[in-house]
Amino acid sequence: MPEGRIIKSLSGFYYVLHDGQVTQCRGRGVFRKKKVTPLVGDNVVFQAENKLEGYILEIKERKNELVRPPISNVDQALLVFSAIEPDFSTMLLDRFLVLVESNHIEPIICISKVDLLSQQQKQEIEQYAEEYRKIGYEVILTSTVTEKGMEQIQPLFEDRVTVIAGQSGVGKSSLLNTLKPELELKTNDISMSLGRGKHTTRHVELISFGEGLVADTPGFSSLEFLTLEVEELTHCFPEMSRLSEQCKFRGCLHVKEPKCAVKEAYEQKEIPSYRYEHYLQFIEEIKQRKPRY
Ligand code: GDP
Ligand code: ZN
Repeated sequence: MPEGRIIKSLSGFYYVLHDGQVTQCRGRGVFRKKKVTPLVGDNVVFQAENKLEGYILEIKERKNELVRPPISNVDQALLVFSAIEPDFSTMLLDRFLVLVESNHIEPIICISKVDLLSQQQKQEIEQYAEEYRKIGYEVILTSTVTEKGMEQIQPLFEDRVTVIAGQSGVGKSSLLNTLKPELELKTNDISMSLGRGKHTTRHVELISFGEGLVADTPGFSSLEFLTLEVEELTHCFPEMSRLSEQCKFRGCLHVKEPKCAVKEAYEQKEIPSYRYEHYLQFIEEIKQRKPRY
């Protein structure tokens, strides 16, 4: 039986991509009993009735699953933040990073609209970029006006499922529209409609981008830490997670514990103060979260 990936779901049909071909499938049997609903992004086993139609027989285990938009098996998130208009915010960036990391998705940071920066502002942004690179993140500065950074983004989509995230107005649509000429060459009539509040439905579709797939709906529309626990939060700050081994107490939350390597690094200014402060702020937020029933 062939295996493929659901790239679109509409009116009870699932569109399964396999070998560059799309088969319109209905669900059948096994997974229905298990009460699993196929999701865009699912790897599935299907049976083709003819060239264009078939049935989904099995859903492969998911690596992860996002709720808004509903999509599974996301490899990476391209987090778009504008350097200016709206202003760059490390608070917002750290929040997105935690959401992405906690879903076991690899983040890539894109700082857009750098053409609008003065020389001094450029230096500030470069400094931030360096600080995040030091943590281990890939940071790309872009401009759709000068096309800076475009050649760096393009290859990142290959062979992976990417979700794009970021506030409205940061330039997500512009970015993909700038990369779109390539898209049109390799795919046919796929229209991009990211952001701008154009979405009245929560449909999500994966669009082919060379050998990669990109979700056409921005991810992480809810920025609340709805299910994250404090113990997990440390793992979402890689530089702190790396230091935890040197903390005196196992399971140290790096708040008030004595001989905490993270706190020491913060005091020695080895980690940027805003990172640690955001961490503390998120801990508070999680602790004060009301239980959901
Ligand atoms: P989205 O809501 O994230 O999809 O953002 P848009 O792509 O709609 O962009 C919002 C505004 O920012 C638009 O007016 C774009 O023309 C502008 N914009 C986007 N990228 C850039 C850029 O790199 N440089 C400049 N100067 N403007 C940009
Ligand atoms: Zn500690």
